[in-house]
Amino acid sequence: MYLSVVIPCFNEERALPRLHDALAAVLSEVGRECEVILVDDGSTDGTLIEARRLAFADRRVRYLALSRNFGKEAAVLAGLRDARGERVAIMDADLQHPPELLSRMLALMDSGCDQVVARRSREGDPLLRSLLSRMYYRALNALTDIGVQDGAGDFRVLSRRAVDAVLSLDERNRFSKGLFGWIGFDTATVPFRGVPRSIGRSKWSLGKLVNYGIDGLVSFNSKPLRLSVYLGLLVAVLAGCYMAFVVVHTLVNGVRVPGYTTLLVAVAGLGGLHLLFLGVLGEYLGRIYVETKRRPHFLVKESGGGLAPTHAQRL
Ligand code: UDP
Ligand code: MG
Repeated sequence: MYLSVVIPCFNEERALPRLHDALAAVLSEVGRECEVILVDDGSTDGTLIEARRLAFADRRVRYLALSRNFGKEAAVLAGLRDARGERVAIMDADLQHPPELLSRMLALMDSGCDQVVARRSREGDPLLRSLLSRMYYRALNALTDIGVQDGAGDFRVLSRRAVDAVLSLDERNRFSKGLFGWIGFDTATVPFRGVPRSIGRSKWSLGKLVNYGIDGLVSFNSKPLRLSVYLGLLVAVLAGCYMAFVVVHTLVNGVRVPGYTTLLVAVAGLGGLHLLFLGVLGEYLGRIYVETKRRPHFLVKESGGGLAPTHAQRL
């Protein structure tokens, strides 16, 4: 098997036929043994029916249906575990990742890379959004040392050994951009112009994005904890200096009661800092909790396709 294409799908019944048409053309061009793995991530619409239909009509298509919505990261993992190809491509179902780009990515892999990442330019994005995400990736790269590129998303092709490396990382909390960065290997980048989603709706809300951002920051190391140590030290030193000043001042000038503002600022400021770093601690604790339960990442309720029925008509 030369290539597996893993596609996580959540409520994509309308996108799948078009995706299949586009992909089928590209795969025929590749001209070697390929498979497409549709992972239905607990969709509530007809995605599974559509996946069954495509698998029936095209024997290159296989599908897995998860028992409920486990999230995109889990769906991708399910697909990766199932993929048999020497190379594995991961792409979204919503046609925001142009299948035509695949041939260029495969060609780049021939030059010996283990990962080829399609990097979406932020041209045409709302200004605020692109500014925020640029800032976020700056912070992420400063705080972790995995080197995640802004816009380098989940459209990528991996070699077999890169896939095996990703699969060997068994953590429950999967921030995949970070995992792909963590495994290393030679990585090439292909730029592409992002297009707005034409079918269906994005599953990302602002709240989800913020949570995803926090995941990225705390999933990879304990630098935020280190930061809290430094900040604590700084505050302690400042407080010590101020204390010395107040003691001397009182000894020289006697007791003066005012100081309400200082008190209020100190209590409120320190209270805020405490809560913030309790939160940071909690983030790590929560992750330990989830990891220790060692629950499976996902459950599969149905799979099929890939058989070679003699009457198979290719679409
Ligand atoms: N997706 C998924 N499970 C989810 C959410 C999304 O498998 O819980 C899939 C979705 O079907 C799509 C891809 O992940 O193929 C990217 O989702 P979306 O287009 O909503 O994200 P965006 O492109 O807006 O970042
Ligand atoms: Mg999308």
